[in-house]
Amino acid sequence: MALIVHKYGGTSMGSIERIKNVAKRVAKWHRAGHQVVVVPSAMSGETNRLLGLANEISETPDPRELDMLASTGEQASSALLAIALQTIGIESKSFTGWQVPIKTDDAYTKARIRSIDADRIKRELNQGKVVVVTGFQGVDEDNNITTLGRGGSDTSAVAIAAAIKADECLIFTDVDGVYTTDPRIVPEAKRLNVISFEEMLEMASLGSKVLQIRSVEFAGKYHVPLRVLSSLTDPDLPIEVEKHSGTLITYEENSQMEAAVVSGIAFSRDEAKITLLAIPDKPGIAFGIIGPIADANIDIDMIIQNQSVNGTTDFSFTVSKADFNRAVQVIKEEVAPKIGAKDVFVEQQVCKVSIVGIGMKSHAGVASRMFATLANENINIEMVSTSEIKTSVLIEDKYMELAVRALHKAFELDKEPENTGIN
Ligand code: ASP
Ligand code: MG
Repeated sequence: MALIVHKYGGTSMGSIERIKNVAKRVAKWHRAGHQVVVVPSAMSGETNRLLGLANEISETPDPRELDMLASTGEQASSALLAIALQTIGIESKSFTGWQVPIKTDDAYTKARIRSIDADRIKRELNQGKVVVVTGFQGVDEDNNITTLGRGGSDTSAVAIAAAIKADECLIFTDVDGVYTTDPRIVPEAKRLNVISFEEMLEMASLGSKVLQIRSVEFAGKYHVPLRVLSSLTDPDLPIEVEKHSGTLITYEENSQMEAAVVSGIAFSRDEAKITLLAIPDKPGIAFGIIGPIADANIDIDMIIQNQSVNGTTDFSFTVSKADFNRAVQVIKEEVAPKIGAKDVFVEQQVCKVSIVGIGMKSHAGVASRMFATLANENINIEMVSTSEIKTSVLIEDKYMELAVRALHKAFELDKEPENTGIN
């Protein structure tokens, strides 16, 4: 017998028919002798619908009320699932975040989980029930309902799995796992049987939408065994098969995994570049630029500073598109006049493409293969940033798909993945 958390996304809960299918799948695990906690999302479209209603009344609705409102989507889907389970003979009870309770800070619409009381969940499980807990929400110190940010049910599921020390957290979703890249751009993209936690973190932060990034961080912190798999298969699929399907996120490096130097290609259009031209090349200048940006609470992604010519140099950095206008304002009004920049250039038609792989730690020449591939396609690299397990380039927006396709091929990601032995 194992203790398992199942998470079902909005599409998986998208209609009464689908909710009944989820109930069948959960019942199958329960009848096989496992204790199951289920964390559902709201039915697909419901969160958008609710937030849309608020926006019809006000352009700036009170975040506290938005959380009151949005959290009802999960309350409804959770109750429907419990009813569906009861109807097929499985004892089940649903709980909202505040009933558990799942305690969070008070940052409405993007709250962070502080603690989860496992007692109630455990008690119900020990009475033989399937416990359904709403995703996406919690309660702050003053008993205000909070939500965890869009896509937050993933984080609820992982956090609950950590709190009850589950043997595994299964994230059932509308794709059948994590792919080498977005199959809509590269149809030959392959599902990975296994991906390391570090790689998953990079893939999630670089735009792969399979898991909310916070859930991956949470899983890493508590080493929650995590698997992403399809909810759209036959709910009666034998558990022995289901147990090994999808993509497993692992925390150990093993020799087989090192065989693949690059595991995936990630990309993000959410980049904008700001360049200060002909600034003095002397100590304190980088801080003079980046300091005010950080003070404005703007995250910087990539940075490049050129070799100086005649004592002056150019300095570029990127921010997310959402922060772009504010960043330009800070630079033009505050920074440029103070440090004496000759001019400020801005560029929004840029994107970031990254190769990600834990094998890069022990292989030289990966970046050179990446650059050669882009050169072959006549794609200019504007900026580069690297870490132990990824190399990212900033390129013109219009070349993004071409770059992703070319890199996917160059690193042979269209070939069948090696059998890692883990599965
Ligand atoms: N229902 C929420 C959303 O649409 C949370 C989730 O689905 O994970 O963002
Ligand atoms: Mg989701």
